[in-house]
Amino acid sequence: MATAYLSHHDCLLHDTADGHPECARRITVIEDRFIATGLSDILRHFDAPSATESQLLRVHTREYLDGVESIAPQTGYVRVDPDTVISPGSLQAARRAAGALVAATDLVINGEMESAFCGVRPPGHHAESKRGMGFCLYNNIAVGAAHALEAHGLGKIAIVDFDVHHGNGTEDIFKDENRVLFCSTFQHPFYPFTALLEPADNRVNVPLQAGAGSDEFRAAVTEQWLPALQRFQPEMIFVSAGFDAHRDDDMSHVSLTDADFQWVTEQIVAVAADSASGRIVSALEGGYELNSLARCVETHVRVLMGVH
Ligand SMILES: [Zn+2]
Repeated sequence: MATAYLSHHDCLLHDTADGHPECARRITVIEDRFIATGLSDILRHFDAPSATESQLLRVHTREYLDGVESIAPQTGYVRVDPDTVISPGSLQAARRAAGALVAATDLVINGEMESAFCGVRPPGHHAESKRGMGFCLYNNIAVGAAHALEAHGLGKIAIVDFDVHHGNGTEDIFKDENRVLFCSTFQHPFYPFTALLEPADNRVNVPLQAGAGSDEFRAAVTEQWLPALQRFQPEMIFVSAGFDAHRDDDMSHVSLTDADFQWVTEQIVAVAADSASGRIVSALEGGYELNSLARCVETHVRVLMGVH
């Protein structure tokens, strides 16, 4: 199965200052792992374009976009919240990260590629329509999904999010959009500490308690995500692929293994094969322990390619 890898060296320009877990090494360890394992030779590589303002405006307000532009520094750092840094290269990186999702969506819907993985930063799923937060500036996955809806006219899109933090931004952007089903698992109560919305036809929130592991995660996916996805019959699936629920990652108190990330990817691939002609666009969200991150992204991409 032809799988694209999209990134851009501009994504390394987002400087979060010394000691910040969301660092440029996250991308380079993934790409080094692809090279060392031979995966790089069988992926199709694409440079991510910059998202245009009109593509960003599908999910963010004009006030937010202008506000971020106006505070971006020429030197040094500014913060949109205690964890979320803007350096001189950050918006260039963020536009490439969102643009990767647009280009990946085009490649997959046009049939050039069956699936795509975007190895980009900053991540996106905490960014709401009116505010950036939690390491995220633009909501990359939402920009991709909105492009599939508005530019390609798709009528049913699923976004699945297995990052250990709730994708409050993605939920905020699509909470009243019945063409998008949002399925997520996340530690709760935990960052971002936003109130959980009531269950609805277009969202499946499955909170996991601190201390949860493989059994609880697999039960959540099997009992709650998969029936909803099978009912919805998405035409395309977007994946907010965060690997910070790994037991080696001290960002959370959920303990998943490499095998769990392989398994959940297999479930997503099976749903996509059933209703979506295999169409999957996945994007990196969290994952901060560099060894498990590199291994699990490799496995995730291998499953997308069907070469594991
Ligand atoms: Zn996370």
